[in-house]
Amino acid sequence: MDAYSKLTATLKRIGLLDAAAGLLGWDEQVNLPPQSAGLRAQTNAALAEVIHQEFSRPEIDEWLRELEEQELSADASCVVHETRREYDRAVKLPADFVCRRTEAASAGYHAWTQARKQSDFAAFAPMLAQQLDLAREEAGYLGQGDNPYDYWIDRFDPGMSAGVFADLFDELRSPLKALAEAVLAAPVQANVSIFKGFPVEAQESFLREVLARIGFDFQYGRLDTAVHPFCGGSGWDTRLTTRFAADNPLDSLFSAIHEAGHGLYEQGLRAGNPDAFGLPLSSAVGMGLHESQSRLWENQVARSDAFWDFYEPRYREAFATQLDGVSSDELRLAISAVQRQPIRVDADEVTYNLHVILRFEIERALFAGELDVAGVPSAWNELSEELLGLTPDGYANGCLQDVHWSEGFFGYFPSYALGNVLAAQLWQSANDALPKLNAEIAQGSFESLLSWLRENVHRHGKRFGTRELVRRATGQEVSAEPLLAYLRDRYESRYGLS
Ligand code: ZN
Repeated sequence: MDAYSKLTATLKRIGLLDAAAGLLGWDEQVNLPPQSAGLRAQTNAALAEVIHQEFSRPEIDEWLRELEEQELSADASCVVHETRREYDRAVKLPADFVCRRTEAASAGYHAWTQARKQSDFAAFAPMLAQQLDLAREEAGYLGQGDNPYDYWIDRFDPGMSAGVFADLFDELRSPLKALAEAVLAAPVQANVSIFKGFPVEAQESFLREVLARIGFDFQYGRLDTAVHPFCGGSGWDTRLTTRFAADNPLDSLFSAIHEAGHGLYEQGLRAGNPDAFGLPLSSAVGMGLHESQSRLWENQVARSDAFWDFYEPRYREAFATQLDGVSSDELRLAISAVQRQPIRVDADEVTYNLHVILRFEIERALFAGELDVAGVPSAWNELSEELLGLTPDGYANGCLQDVHWSEGFFGYFPSYALGNVLAAQLWQSANDALPKLNAEIAQGSFESLLSWLRENVHRHGKRFGTRELVRRATGQEVSAEPLLAYLRDRYESRYGLS
């Protein structure tokens, strides 16, 4: 076997081990018995150690050196270049550190679920401090001890930095606050209390039909319930979760569509690269682009009038008693409700990025040493007042609401906002390329949109960075303008402001 075959065979084997680890992670959030968390933390750590050992083998370095001397095809260069980047990172992290970090992620997650239940920040604070220390330690091993926050942002979105996001957020902050204030002061307001007593079984069968129709392939994936909705696995075995509440049917529906958007990206990575399991060719380019796919299906598509032109009769059929006496205008306004409320995952499109900016400011201050862990709750409340116009009524609805920090995911939140920005850019380009798209969606047909996304986004894997991929797909640089234009257009007309 030549060096390239040996390298790709090894990467596929590591991909299989990663798939096993991913499945354990899914199981931990979907099925784990209450007293089994300790064993699972150790199991995760043992498997992470094996994966790390496999990926740190010196032969990989030898094969890469040999290949770096050769003329390679574009795909082979992508594999070599991306593997070099990850390999260098893996060998610089000591095995005992990888083990400690994985155990801390499991312990942190379980501490967070307890602390959130009790709304007890003091119980979670030592875990948060430990996660911050580990995050700084990791950045140090990679030679980025002076810029730990930039290191973490680049981990999730290669090529991005705190400075780039600070500029993007400066463009978004004032226009979004102004649009939210205008909508909240509009003479018509959404009435979300129409959503009461929607049976969970009917919610589930409705949203399963939606997921299948937009193109999620249940032959390669499944849907379960979890406290915090997520999408795990790969396009070969895609695990979606949502959660159900009888009085909040839109949460389960839009969470499921959001996670299915992630799943469609993963399944598109597989469809475009069926022989590339475990290789960078079938891996997502970054979390911002991943979020752009979930947000595009959740918002641009599933909150549009065209989508509800098709689905409203079906929704009324499924929930005839509950929607009796609710007019079409009331229903659609409730679907695009803009509200002052403290929870990011419940946030509407207009205020969502303001929730992200809040977290970005706190993370940046924590890593810069301008804020300590004990100061997080009050900093959170101040920023919440400034950006969202409210103070959360407790830690569970404030600084304890998100899972990310408990597992050591710092620098991840900005990817959500980048996802919103990219979703609007891609949506604009898809509509330019497919002038009948709106009419097709109103007929319940999503195929041409999914094909456009597969062709222009999904199939590329890591062949291009986020910025290059966006340039190719849209002909534009990353820009906040299409998002602001799209939000003004949709919300000013729906709330009678234009
Ligand atoms: Zn997401």
